[in-house]
Amino acid sequence: MSTVISADWVLPVEGAPIERGAVAIEDGLIAAVGTIDELGAGEHHEGAMIVPGFVNAHSHLEYAVYAGFGDGLEFAPWLELHMARKRRLEPDDMVASARLGAAQCLASGITTTGDASFSGAGGVAMDELGLRGIVYLEAFGDELRVDLQDRVASDRVRIGLSPHAPYSATPSLYRACVETGLPIATHLAESPAEQEWLVHGTGPMASFSDFFPPPLGETGIRALARAGVLGPKLVAAHCVTVDAEEIALLAERDVAVAHCPRSNALLGCGVAPLAELRAAGLRIGLGTDSPASAPSFDMFAELRAAVFAARARENRPDALSATDALELATLGSARALGLDQEVGSLVPGKHADLAVVSLDASPYFPWEDPAAAVVFGGSPQCILTTLVDGEARYERGGFPWQELRRSATSARKRMLATASGRVAASPR
Ligand SMILES: [Zn+2]
Repeated sequence: MSTVISADWVLPVEGAPIERGAVAIEDGLIAAVGTIDELGAGEHHEGAMIVPGFVNAHSHLEYAVYAGFGDGLEFAPWLELHMARKRRLEPDDMVASARLGAAQCLASGITTTGDASFSGAGGVAMDELGLRGIVYLEAFGDELRVDLQDRVASDRVRIGLSPHAPYSATPSLYRACVETGLPIATHLAESPAEQEWLVHGTGPMASFSDFFPPPLGETGIRALARAGVLGPKLVAAHCVTVDAEEIALLAERDVAVAHCPRSNALLGCGVAPLAELRAAGLRIGLGTDSPASAPSFDMFAELRAAVFAARARENRPDALSATDALELATLGSARALGLDQEVGSLVPGKHADLAVVSLDASPYFPWEDPAAAVVFGGSPQCILTTLVDGEARYERGGFPWQELRRSATSARKRMLATASGRVAASPR
């Protein structure tokens, strides 16, 4: 079956913006992209733009209910608090939280996510709500103990592995993960605290020494390079505290980077050297991380943070344009996840994954550049509909938000329960 969807503008990302643009969809794939005159108006959205669905290069859907506690803590105590609370959750709680996260992604125009998942709940939620992506099952310690059987897997939701970080997973665990041939995600060079621990065995993370592997005597990137586990199937979240040599190591081995500027800023970890990473030719995507560190799965807020951080760090207003930022959050992330043949831009043959953004209530008005209008003026409230495989998986006002929030909130209550059984003081 063939349908057409059109708007004031179509931003294909690969190719120039199209005024009075339209996208023809057939069997869940993009059949054609052109003008309304060429393809007809079909279902027309006045005052709106059609963009490729955002591709979230790094998320933790199951941490959707982690917002609102731990804010203002330094990296090491923040990590400790989250690890302690996570242990109180049952698998069903994690699914309830991940469902809310998947819904928030779709409501923000995200159609694909690279989700690092502690319990695998991210994959269950993605499958149920119609989000595309890779669920990277998290692994810790020295041995690969992740059970890959009976996991949700389909063409839309694929399985990967996530050795958590060089301070929580040994190089031999990384090797075991890489040897499966699956896509791999990890956290690299996120904080000065982890670098101090990994290199010198000192600093605030020394308090984890009972349950983390011993320090490596060098940075994670150097250790993983020496272990021969850096490669093109690896997407590394953060890469904030990287020097020129480490950037060169990542580039030589074609490691992709998930840039998460809000998470890095809010945890006080720093500002990743995006300009240097881009200049080295790395595949880079944009990730919202999760409400455990960034406040939300709002990709529009992440886009703006990326632009602000890049320009502030470089002292140059042309360090990252709105067009570049939009590309990072779509095709860039798709490249980072190895999915760019399938998603990330509006071109014939790719999946019909797209978002319709109304700019009627945009605070950024008037505008001249349609990409700037989306990046500076967009918000989840502007999303009219989000399509995955040509199917509306979100329509404004169309989610049972109350129900999603209610079950996620009861999961959160269990997480906040103290050892004495009381619920710790929490504003909501
Ligand atoms: Zn993460």
